[in-house]
Amino acid sequence: MFTIFPAVVKGPLSESLLGRAIGAGLLDVRVHDLREWTRDRHRSVDDAPFGGGPGMVMKPEPFFAAVESLDPERGRVILTSPAGRLLDQALVRELSSEGHLTLLCGRYEGVDERVVDGLPAEEVSIGDYVLSGGELPALVLIEAVTRLVPGVIGKEASHQHDSFSSGRLLDHPHYTRPQEFRGMPVPEVLVSGNHGEIDRWRRDAAIEKTRRNRPDLSDERFA
Ligand code: SAM
Repeated sequence: MFTIFPAVVKGPLSESLLGRAIGAGLLDVRVHDLREWTRDRHRSVDDAPFGGGPGMVMKPEPFFAAVESLDPERGRVILTSPAGRLLDQALVRELSSEGHLTLLCGRYEGVDERVVDGLPAEEVSIGDYVLSGGELPALVLIEAVTRLVPGVIGKEASHQHDSFSSGRLLDHPHYTRPQEFRGMPVPEVLVSGNHGEIDRWRRDAAIEKTRRNRPDLSDERFA
């Protein structure tokens, strides 16, 4: 990963699932300061936009030099960008089968378009909103992909029933103890011990939740 703010990603990479995956040797994340590939005295990574306008644009040279220094192990090169292809579970699955990924984090008004055209780099967005930098989007992508790396998620916490994992369906609601909380009981079927009934209830509840929260995902199979 190339960023001008390596410290932003260090904490999340050292804790919880990502920290454990790295500790167990299942994941290797190398965070590089993009400024190491600058050549001028000020280590500048940005400049004013051609054509005028507010803000600064990230220069192409440091990105090209940085990515080319990785050869032959650069893998797919991904530029985080709100103007990119939307990251969804299908793309996460696709990326999880890659041996290497190179992630580029933008800042300011974004990155010189020749990085996309010339490296080339695939633009990936984590959603239809704008953040100040690509570090959090890169972490989102890394965590989503890492969950699918064999051995990262133990048997007790399966991702196979997660939202979006079985087609266009959200996850079913979950409950734990206490059985009744502030007058709200757990659905009776979940304490019945009847696993056929429980599976049916979970499927119906997932369909209902998808209809309510994400009608855009509605699928004729669930009509
Ligand atoms: N002018 C750009 C636009 O409107 O498309 C926004 C640039 S944004 C302020 C700065 C950087 O943050 C981007 O280059 C990108 O790396 C990152 N970024 C911001 N929002 C993002 C999103 N939704 N998905 C992925 N990356 C994002």
